[in-house]
Amino acid sequence: MEKLKLYNTLTRKKEEFTSIKKDFVGLYTCGPTVYNYAHIGNLRTYIFEDILKRILKYNDYKVKHVMNITDVGHLTGDRDMGEDRLEKEAKLKNKSAWDIAEFYTKEFKKNLKDLNILEPDIWCKATDYIKEQIELVQILEEKAYTYKTSDGIYFDTSKFPDYNKLSHQKLESLQEGARVEKNDEKKNPTDFALWKFSPKHEKRQMEWSSPWGIGFPGWHIECSAMSIKNLGEEFDIHCGGIDAVNIHHTNERAQNNCSVFDGESGKEVVKYWIHGEFLNIASGDKMAKSKGNFLTLQSLIDKNINPLAFRLMCLGTHYRKPLTYSETAIQNFNTTLNNIVNGYKSILEKVNSEKEIEDFKKTIKEKEYLISELSEFREAINNDMNMAVAFSYYYDIITSNKVGYSPEERKKIALKMDEVIGLNLKDIKIEKIEIPENVKLLAEKRLQARKEKNWIESDKLRDEINKLGFEIEDTKNNYNLKKK
Ligand code: AMP
Ligand code: ZN
Repeated sequence: MEKLKLYNTLTRKKEEFTSIKKDFVGLYTCGPTVYNYAHIGNLRTYIFEDILKRILKYNDYKVKHVMNITDVGHLTGDRDMGEDRLEKEAKLKNKSAWDIAEFYTKEFKKNLKDLNILEPDIWCKATDYIKEQIELVQILEEKAYTYKTSDGIYFDTSKFPDYNKLSHQKLESLQEGARVEKNDEKKNPTDFALWKFSPKHEKRQMEWSSPWGIGFPGWHIECSAMSIKNLGEEFDIHCGGIDAVNIHHTNERAQNNCSVFDGESGKEVVKYWIHGEFLNIASGDKMAKSKGNFLTLQSLIDKNINPLAFRLMCLGTHYRKPLTYSETAIQNFNTTLNNIVNGYKSILEKVNSEKEIEDFKKTIKEKEYLISELSEFREAINNDMNMAVAFSYYYDIITSNKVGYSPEERKKIALKMDEVIGLNLKDIKIEKIEIPENVKLLAEKRLQARKEKNWIESDKLRDEINKLGFEIEDTKNNYNLKKK
């Protein structure tokens, strides 16, 4: 069977995936900063992560998925400068930061539901893990990775020789970017805050006492603290959008490896770092909250676009390639979605009695071609999530019937593939007509007559069935009954 291969940002290679523990995967995905609605660019990242999780499950791994909610510490500037996004929004809206966080967390969870994204096993809020974050900073302090400035406790990146391994960037180019936001007290431009002090002249809504004074955690420390706490000191996969590589994940990795191991040991807390590319708008610009060019899922729903059409759009482009959003494209995917739903409903209409399901179960093992159909699908998903190819098998089995499967076979194959594609086919129902007992009896008699090649009797029985308001359609070894 085709083994699962995934592209690891750390090694810049497509690697065969092997889990740390047998049949178990610890998966951490960076969640939203809840000061605004998620935009469809953010949601592209969560869809790619959902597909990855479903692929792991398809490969029989038990997955423990942890997602955080950033409700404190994410500043408007990337390098520990600027305002806390939540506090800023709270001031603007004249609400408490806690209310803002709660409101947008609920909205975010609604988005996940609409997109049929499986919920994580553990949700964790940064503000619920203050103790763990402080403890982690203390460990780093004891190991002499930190220093104090007038505005906080910082991580000294020069003490971690491997600092740039994830970003693969030269220190100079990171420094280049860092110059934009100058902090004269930093020893190195790449150093970052582990704990920030509350400003002297104003009281923050969210602040805690710590061994270093009243303040709040830096943005990166929350993910290290919550992932290690929930998944252990070595875990399998950490995901996020591509923008997280150079700063957020690079800093997380520094905190992880230096707190759990010795920074010079070369040992890694996270085995695979996997990143999804951006969603851009037609002008080529990335979609971003700060650019004010963003679309929410609700704005698509308002235009009568089914959220699952957006899910399909994301499947159409490989997760490591930029995806350009356009109005025309989303309309096309909405049509594709309708074709799938209608195709699946027509399969359901043809699916016959319980008896046929039983017959199918008996024969499924003998049908080599069925297995090969699914194995091509598996080969695609296991090839670093080649969803466009996988989707073409799914689409074909639902909307056409080139191979000549029975409706029951098509239903089974479609449902199996849908465990990964995630359009929730299992919830699509059609109104099943009640067939009266006398009609069923006539149909059974007719089946018998046909087996005996008694065509006169079989025609006579068909007329009787028609008179009772039903139509009978012959299949290879059985029949379908429909209301006239
Ligand atoms: P945030 O709520 O800003 O912390 O972002 C949540 C997630 O969305 C992160 O994993 C980001 O990397 C990702 N992200 C942000 N902008 C985009 C975009 N335009 N396309 C895809 N992912 C994005
Ligand atoms: Zn994170």
